Amino acid sequence: MALSRRDFLKLCGGSAAALGLSQTFVPEIAHALEKAAAGQPPVIWLAGSACTGCSVSLLNTVHPDIKDVLLKIISLRYHQTVMAASGDLALEAIERTYRDAPGKYLLLVEGAIATGADGLYNTLGERNGKPITMLDWTRKLAGKAAAAVSVGTCAAFGGIPAASPNPTGAKPVSAILAEAKIKTPLINVPGCPPHPDWMVGTLAHVLLYGVPKVDALGRPVLFFGETIHDNCPYRGYFDEASSPRSGATRAAASSSAARVPRPTPTAGSASGTTGSTGACATPCAPAVSSRPTRPRSTSRLVKEGGKA
Ligand code: SF4
Repeated sequence: MALSRRDFLKLCGGSAAALGLSQTFVPEIAHALEKAAAGQPPVIWLAGSACTGCSVSLLNTVHPDIKDVLLKIISLRYHQTVMAASGDLALEAIERTYRDAPGKYLLLVEGAIATGADGLYNTLGERNGKPITMLDWTRKLAGKAAAAVSVGTCAAFGGIPAASPNPTGAKPVSAILAEAKIKTPLINVPGCPPHPDWMVGTLAHVLLYGVPKVDALGRPVLFFGETIHDNCPYRGYFDEASSPRSGATRAAASSSAARVPRPTPTAGSASGTTGSTGACATPCAPAVSSRPTRPRSTSRLVKEGGKA
């Protein structure tokens, strides 16, 4: 089937607000993907300083399910967690892809890349008796990839491995590529872990229409263009008041709460887009917040021993 980019964006964007993200990849998209990816583009998935949570999240993709993604849509040449091969056989799969499909394969990286001790905190295989660092693999493979994707917050921004004092010198993939002056398009899909739809959706966009439009942080606008806050049913109160926690805002919200139509719970509501009561659990839902509110300046006075 022909699925226009416009329809694709509409499906993804609309579902985030109305249906729940888990409904994003309806079967039509799966079929379009299978057709578009008839050549089964090779994919190499590397893992640096990672906990494997991003991989586990990907395995939970529903439409299309992971079996279809792996067997019909892409040709996963290397993924150390799910592949059956090991040792030299596994490494040969990477080398063969690098050799035979330059400029055609996609490189997905999970986890930050350790740069301390010449990268020896992250190694994968050996060459002439010496360990090959993930730093070397990333530079080498990104250089000839059609596009690279940083999967998860660790790969996109450093995440937990790069937290201070960062003894391993962990860095995000973007820093590694910038230092090596590698110009391959890089897409950041942060989240800890990212939602499976964001990963498969980004992959789908690359396969169907090319590299998606990204924001200033390199994230696909398709999935990161709006926040839960933007879709909160109480957002109007936030916009109307000068401060979301002001007494006037809370009073207005409380007196009007009963008039706010509450969304019908959907299968996707557990995703956090909307709660089953129609109220967001974050402080941007003042009508249901039980937190004591106090102007910030007053809180500081109390903390410092002054009078409220
Ligand atoms: S982003 Fe989160 S889930 Fe993914 S590897 Fe890092 S810590 Fe694990």
